[in-house]
Order: sequence, then structure tokens, then C-alpha cells
Amino acid sequence: MHEFDAARLALPGIRELQPYQAGKPIEEVERELGISNIVKLASNENPLGVSPKVRDALAARISELARYPDANGFYLKQAIAEKFSVSTKQITLGNGSNDVLELLARTFVTPANEVIFAQHAFVVYPLVTKAIGAKPVAVPAKDYGHDLDAMLAAITDKTRMVFIANPNNPTGTFLTKEALEGFIKQVPNHVLVVLDEAYYEYVPQDERAPSLEWIQHYPNLVVSRTFSKAYGLAGLRAGYMVSHPAVADLMNRIRQPFNMNELALTASMAALEDDDFIARSVEVNRDGMAQLIRFCDHHNLPYIPSYGNFLTIETGPDSQALFTKLLHKGVIVRPVAGYELPNHLRVSIGLPQENDAFCNAMAEILNGQ
Ligand SMILES: *Cc1c(COP(=O)(O)O)cnc(C)c1O
Repeated sequence: MHEFDAARLALPGIRELQPYQAGKPIEEVERELGISNIVKLASNENPLGVSPKVRDALAARISELARYPDANGFYLKQAIAEKFSVSTKQITLGNGSNDVLELLARTFVTPANEVIFAQHAFVVYPLVTKAIGAKPVAVPAKDYGHDLDAMLAAITDKTRMVFIANPNNPTGTFLTKEALEGFIKQVPNHVLVVLDEAYYEYVPQDERAPSLEWIQHYPNLVVSRTFSKAYGLAGLRAGYMVSHPAVADLMNRIRQPFNMNELALTASMAALEDDDFIARSVEVNRDGMAQLIRFCDHHNLPYIPSYGNFLTIETGPDSQALFTKLLHKGVIVRPVAGYELPNHLRVSIGLPQENDAFCNAMAEILNGQ
């Protein structure tokens, strides 16, 4: 008998990968620690939950689940196109924006290519790059955010893609539209600029980049958005990409035929129409952010100013121990050591009482309790 060595058979890039570390689910903490009333502030979910309009739309659709969904997502694409003044031909739907980011990489990146992203940027970028066997180029951050000049300087003939998260997760840092456009202008056409706008809805209106309009001037620009954050649909997995139609056409050739399920299509359409829910979500986030910042200021805890629905707090070298202590007090936050931020913890903004639970647990721990 020959020994079976699966790792030796796998693609070299995949052999070296670490799996994505998700926020700890509430049920898991209940199971492992035997505690209840847990507050989860670990995955940047919408604390308001699901909009009532989405609930109604989903309930009305349950009886259709025996049928395959529309493989082309006609009505959702139409709704996105109308709302954001783009063409349906520019849209690629996905099982979360994670899906479209990976599809894009699989469509355009070869093992001979380089892919650029910033230090402390979203972990999915190195993940999809390494899975292909391409070379990841992590550019050191500036003040925790993207150093656009350094990223531009890192571009070579082999570069095929540059990822920019704006706002970035897990740092919450933000690039102004002027800085962003100045950058995109200078990126050569053999490089795709991937602008990940997962937290777009939380950015004040007047500070938002007209990123979808830019695609007309910069055909190598692609923009991804998600229904997982402000729209409150993380559990359904729904996201999309807007690009030049030729980019969408190529991605369409390799995606799974039904990569957005019936309920995700239905819920996303209802969510897009519920402007009031987004407005309330943004308001809850603004107030909750102020609440956490007051706490940090009061306890002299430095934090990274954030444009997202989370705050990354410098808790010191004992962050991992602190994470565990918070867990035992029923508060789940997110360690970010894997993002080269070993002295920080990321805290999602919750409802006022959830933020209080975090602040109270932290205060107890800081007092040695
Ligand atoms: C949460 C997040 C996403 C969204 O992921 P989904 O797959 O759409 O749930 C994308 N990019 C960043 C930077 C994120 O933080």
C-alpha cells in the first residue's frame, strides 16, 4: 500500500493556506462555555436584523423553493441597474461579494501574475491570490490605511490586480475620492483596480466616491458591494460587482449557473427598496460608534478612526487574553492578530444595550475583575 498524502497532491498555493477565520458564532460560545445572553460584535453584521419588508418578501417566496432560481438574476440586476444608474450588462451577482471577488481573480489572474493589496487589508485578497498560485504583494500600510503611492510603485508588468477596500476592514480607514481617483488614473490598463465597497452605505453621502460613474472613464476599474452589512443579509450570502460589460461577460463564463439563490435574489430586491431601513441602520451605527468612542476616550484606549460599522481598538499585547475574558463574560469580539494587528481587537457596532454590554465587560476586566 502506498501512503495517501492529500497535501502532496494539492496545488502548492493551497497547501500553504490558512482557512478563513470567521467571527465566533453565538451557538458555539453557548455550547463551549455553557453561557447564554451572548452579545456578538464580531462580524460587522447589522444589529437591527432583517428589515420587515425583506421578511415579508421572503415569506411570500418560500413556496417557490422547489424550482431553480433565475440563473441570470434578471430582476435583481434590473433593480441594481436602476438604483445606481448602471447597465445590467455591467453587473455580476454572487454568493456574497466574496464570491465575485474570487470569480474576478479566477477569471484574470494566472500563477505568473502579481496581486497587490495593503497590509491590514481584508484577508480574502491574499486568500484568493494564493489559491491561484499567484504572487501576493502586501504593501506596508500608512497610518493603518492604504499607502496609495507605495501601491502604485509596486505595480510591475506582472501585476494583474490591485485590491482596495474603502472603507477597509478591519481598520475602518478611508480614502477620499480625490486620493482614489488620483490613484486609479495612474494605474496602467493591464491592471484591474478592484474597489471593495462593502461598507459604502455607512460613508456620509458627500464623502462617497462616484465609483460606478468612474467605470465609464476607467474601464479597468471594478467595484464590489454587498448585502451583508448595512442591508442586514449576511446569512443569505448576496453581493455583486459592477464592471465594464466585457469584464462581466468573462466572469459570467465561469461562475456557477445558480450562484445566487432564490431567497438571496428575493431578499436583495426587497432590501434595495427599503431606504428607510438603511437610514435607520446608519443612524444606529453613528450613535453606537459615538458610544464606543466615548468609552475608549474615558479609558484612554487608542482606536483607529473608522468609517465602517466597527471600531478597532488598541487593547495592548494581551489582546488574545482579553478576547477570551470578554468571551467568558458573554461578549464576542474579533481578534485581528491575523491581520498583523496583534495589539488590537475589532468591535462591531451593535444596539445601544449591546455596546453597553461590551463597555461594561471591558470596564470590569480593566478593573481586574
Ligand atoms: C464583510 C466584507 C465583505 C463582504 O463579504 P460578503 O461575502 O459579501 O459577505 C467584503 N469586503 C470586505 C472588506 C468586508 O469587510
